[in-house]
Amino acid sequence: MLYAPGDVRVEQRPDPTIEKPTDAVIRTVAACVCGSDLWPYRGIEAVNGPSPMGHEYVGVVEEVGSDVRLVRPGQFVVGSFFASDNTCEICRAGYQSSCVRREPVGALGAQAERLRVPLADGTLVATPEAPSDDLVPSLLAASDVLGTGWFGAVAAKAGPGRTVAVVGDGAVGLLGVLAARQLGAERIIAMSRHENRQKLALEYGATDIVAERGDDGVAAIKELTGGLGAHSVIEAVGTPESMMQAIRATRPGGHVGYVGVAHGVELPGEELFFSHVHLHGGPAPVRRFLPELIDLIHARAIDPGRVFDLTLPLDQAAEGYRAMDQRRAIKTLLRP
Ligand SMILES: [Zn+2]
Repeated sequence: MLYAPGDVRVEQRPDPTIEKPTDAVIRTVAACVCGSDLWPYRGIEAVNGPSPMGHEYVGVVEEVGSDVRLVRPGQFVVGSFFASDNTCEICRAGYQSSCVRREPVGALGAQAERLRVPLADGTLVATPEAPSDDLVPSLLAASDVLGTGWFGAVAAKAGPGRTVAVVGDGAVGLLGVLAARQLGAERIIAMSRHENRQKLALEYGATDIVAERGDDGVAAIKELTGGLGAHSVIEAVGTPESMMQAIRATRPGGHVGYVGVAHGVELPGEELFFSHVHLHGGPAPVRRFLPELIDLIHARAIDPGRVFDLTLPLDQAAEGYRAMDQRRAIKTLLRP
C-alpha cells in the first residue's frame, strides 16, 4: 500500500473474492514495481489515501466466476494492467487497453499474495504448461514492460531496413530494443548514459549507443543517420524533454511510438506540422501481444526477464521502490 509519497507499507488485507461471474482470483507467483509506480511514489502524481499498488502479475488461478470459460483453476496465467473483455469492437481492433469495459488492475493491487482479476476470459492468458521457475521473470515482464516496449516498437513501425532509436533506458526502453530486434530492425540506437543499461541494450540487440540527451542527443542521432534522423523512435519516458527528443530525432515521414506515461507533455503544433512525423502510442494493448510473447518466452527465443536486477520478498516492497527511485535497480521483482 502506498500511504503517501515515499511511504510504502506491507500489511494484511482481506483475501479478494469473486465479486462478479466474470472474475478470477489468482495466487500471485510474482509481481513487480513499475516505473509508473514511481510517479505517485515521488509525489508527481497525487496519492489519495492508502492505495493498493501494482499492475504487473503472473500467478496461478485459484477460483473463477460462473461465467468464466477460458481459464480454469490450476492454470499459470499472465495478465496485464487493464482488464479487457477482448470481444468488443475496440478489443478486436487490437486496442484492449481501451476496451469499452476496461478496468484498471492497478486499483486492485497486484503487489499482493492474491489478486482479483476482472473480465478473466479476456484478460488472462494461460501458459502452455506450468513454466519452470527461471521463466517466471520473463513471463512477468510480458505482463507490462515487454508488452509496452513491444507496442512502442510496433507503433514506431520498427522493422527490416529501418533504423530505430530508443529514448529511455528503463525496462521499457531496454525491451523496446529487444522488440525492435525481434521485428527485424536493421539498426538500433539505444540512448543511455548508464553503463549497466548500455550493456544490456547491446545484449538485447542495440547496434549503437548514444549517451547525449536533448538537443545533443538529437544531433547524435542525425549524425548516425546521414543527417536525416531515425525511421522509428520509441519514446519510453514520458517527459516533455523526452517526447520532443523523440520527435526531433525522427526523420520526415518517420514514426514515433510513445509509451512513456505522459506527464506535462505539450506539443508545439507548428513544429509538429512541419515535422511530417507520425505519432502513435498510449497505454500499450499488452493483451494483443501476450500469446505471441508467451510463445517466444517458452521457446526461450527471448529473455526479457533480465531487466529484473533486484528480487525481494513482497514484505520488503518498500526497499524495492527505494532502489528503483534511486536508480540502484532497473526493476524490482517481488515474490509473495
Ligand atoms: Zn473490449
